[in-house]
Amino acid sequence: MAKFEPKTIRQSKQRNHLLQLLRSTDRHPTADWLYEQLKKNFPNLSLGTVYRNLSLLIEQGEVKKIHCGSTFDRFEANTQPHYHLICESCGTMTDLEMPGMYNDLNKQAKQLTTFTISHHKIEFYGICQKCARKDARAQNAHAETQRHKE
Ligand SMILES: [Zn+2]
Ligand SMILES: [Zn+2]
Repeated sequence: MAKFEPKTIRQSKQRNHLLQLLRSTDRHPTADWLYEQLKKNFPNLSLGTVYRNLSLLIEQGEVKKIHCGSTFDRFEANTQPHYHLICESCGTMTDLEMPGMYNDLNKQAKQLTTFTISHHKIEFYGICQKCARKDARAQNAHAETQRHKE
């Protein structure tokens, strides 16, 4: 017989698991991805619970929500100020730490305005190494077939 476990304990266990999962990955996952991973350990988990736990962790300052415009929001446990590199080919989001830059930019902006600045966000767009390698391979293959035609 299953051991009796009060609901509140079960919920905090799920929340802990969620936080550990976020801390163990740098992929800036969506709530859906987190849900799929957690379901392996908590078969009765609902997506609503994942969202509720995420909100709680955000309130506690353990997790940050990244607004991604029209696409699904992503989440991360890296709450230090940092920038993001976004691959235009595969959509992966990678952290880029530039602490000096972060403080400098806040300072510069403060000097230019009477606006009270709390933080800022920067996203760099380009092609990740994986996709760049794939591109290079595709181009080589193309060049190879061109050569055979001649
Ligand atoms: Zn990529
Ligand atoms: Zn990040």
